[in-house]
Amino acid sequence: MNLDRPEMRQDPVEGRWVLISPGRANRPMPHDSAFLADEGTCPFCQGNEALTPPELSAVRPSGGLANSPGWTVRIVPNRYPAVMPGQPAVLGPGQLQAVGAHEVVVECPGHLPTVTGLGAGHLETVLGLARERVASLSADPAHAWVQLFKNAGAAAGASLYHAHMQILSVPEVPQRIENMLHRAESLGHCPVCEQIRWEHEKKIRIVSEKDGLIAFCPFASGFPHEVWICPANHQPHWELMPDNLLESMSRLLWEVLSGLEKRLGLFPHNLVMQGAPRFHPLARHGHWVLRVLPRLNGIAGFEWGTGMLINTVAPEAAAEGLRG
Ligand SMILES: [Zn+2]
Ligand SMILES: [Zn+2]
Repeated sequence: MNLDRPEMRQDPVEGRWVLISPGRANRPMPHDSAFLADEGTCPFCQGNEALTPPELSAVRPSGGLANSPGWTVRIVPNRYPAVMPGQPAVLGPGQLQAVGAHEVVVECPGHLPTVTGLGAGHLETVLGLARERVASLSADPAHAWVQLFKNAGAAAGASLYHAHMQILSVPEVPQRIENMLHRAESLGHCPVCEQIRWEHEKKIRIVSEKDGLIAFCPFASGFPHEVWICPANHQPHWELMPDNLLESMSRLLWEVLSGLEKRLGLFPHNLVMQGAPRFHPLARHGHWVLRVLPRLNGIAGFEWGTGMLINTVAPEAAAEGLRG
């Protein structure tokens, strides 16, 4: 589908509007310099374990000592944390001690910018270790919100070339998450379930569907080639998903990322896992979604001023490309 005229579309989950303006795709935009190899020694490479704080967990198929080589995925504290461990404390009105966890999930021992070349099974190992860590943090009410995310490429906020995800917890549920839960409560239904029902009817934005999971380019995509992966049935807490679902989700994510790499090359992107805060009174309204957000459009003045993203690729065209 090609849009002759720009459209404004409203995202049913958050209520935010986006501009779908394919005509703007014709303007020159540099983005391929986003994966510059680092200068100096990479702290995430196998053999350089001493350059990170002591590991919190790791997968070592052949055993071996912590903080030594032989791992396939490794979680370590972030060397430059945004929050610190400690006791939650109110410091004043609108002022809290920023206590929490800030950790790095190193996705592979080799110096690679992406792990799609290692296969879907490896991605499952990465996401399995991250799920375990997030489940353990989320079980403690002091971590009101635990975010798993990935910044890949400088344009997506990455400071290191070596493939990694991050886990960052905060002692307050972020306003954006609050708003989504309250929106579902006031609508009287789950907007993600509603959107999936709608996508099944329209059949123009679905990329793939199997094993109870669906991947689609959302109607009001804010980013070119944006993809959501989520369970077709309502499930609030992604970190509690069973192993068989984790395996299917990893395979689906691997297919989506491989498809995007085929189309875009090495592309800057964020992965954002959004579920529901474990102890929130409205947690039942959450429907977990893994968002794949290619960062090919800048967040510039208009976007900051309005909160309205400008997307240059219609989601219908993005889905068609990925299905192909
Ligand atoms: Zn490295
Ligand atoms: Zn739902």
